[in-house]
Amino acid sequence: MDKRTPWGKPGTVAPKPYEFVSFHDQVVRQAVPGHHVLRPDLHTGVLTFRLWTLTPLFVSSGQVALSEDLGLPAGQVVQAHYRIGDRPAVPASSLKGAVRSVAEAVSASCLGITRVNRRDLPDVFSRPCTRQAACPCCTLFGMGGSEAYLGQVRFADALLQEGGQMMVYHLPALYRPRAGAPVYLDQRRRYKGRKFYKHGKPHATAQGGDSEVIRHGSLLSAQVAFTNLSDEQLGLLLYALGLGGSFRLKLGGGKPASLGSLETKPLRLVLRNSQQAFLNGDSTVQAETVCEGEALVAKVHSYITTARKSGYILKQQAEELEQVLRFDRKTLSECPTGIY
Ligand SMILES: [Zn+2]
Repeated sequence: MDKRTPWGKPGTVAPKPYEFVSFHDQVVRQAVPGHHVLRPDLHTGVLTFRLWTLTPLFVSSGQVALSEDLGLPAGQVVQAHYRIGDRPAVPASSLKGAVRSVAEAVSASCLGITRVNRRDLPDVFSRPCTRQAACPCCTLFGMGGSEAYLGQVRFADALLQEGGQMMVYHLPALYRPRAGAPVYLDQRRRYKGRKFYKHGKPHATAQGGDSEVIRHGSLLSAQVAFTNLSDEQLGLLLYALGLGGSFRLKLGGGKPASLGSLETKPLRLVLRNSQQAFLNGDSTVQAETVCEGEALVAKVHSYITTARKSGYILKQQAEELEQVLRFDRKTLSECPTGIY
């Protein structure tokens, strides 16, 4: 019998488009800080950064639309891209989710979002974080439920900039966004790592659903505000944003089909200076310090280095993650065209 699928040769199983980053053997927890006081010894401010699409990017609006209504060539019904007003965008929640999964993987953090039963995880993940005992990522990014805590960072929606373009992309049904456990089992059927999709060369197929995507080579502008971060916490945030350049972020739908590869670049860092200086009547102190260009790149690297050296960014996990999420055009593999 012919078992030919629309996507591959009969009988072939393509290499999996994902890899795993091993779990660290402990979760470090402490009480979350309060939000009401800005501490002069910690960092509070806003980072503006750019997202550059290395492959097409698709974040679904959950709506279908006629292509002509989106300003695209007429005659197709497409899954429309997410928008703020009429501007294509990446919602803050998607950006935060992608950054948080990197930060969780490379720090002594819990598993924030998982569809698996906690009893099947190593003991260290068996209990959730609380306000009294929160891991680095629940402290930074917040937690829900009865322990609701907003976290110390707040993302804004990322907006497509002038010159960015939309297009229709045929995404095989196999690659439509779907649920999947972000962990995997070892030979003894215990979970042992976090799942990340590798970067690859995208190629559209004739079959499959039509999605409105942001074309590769487009630019989005994004912001993250933060309150009372230590050097290590700021280093972890900047690292997880991909600003150290040692890996590229991956975000949105169609990850197994190599969509959503993003290069990030810092644009402007505004740090609020301590209120203490004003209380002391020191008028020589500016309310804000603005950092841009080469100086900002150097500052970003210095915070990341601090977090690496102190072990706040875990060496082994960061190396594994950088291996999985490296983006080198010369060695990028084709995304699987068959069942994987
Ligand atoms: Zn946690």
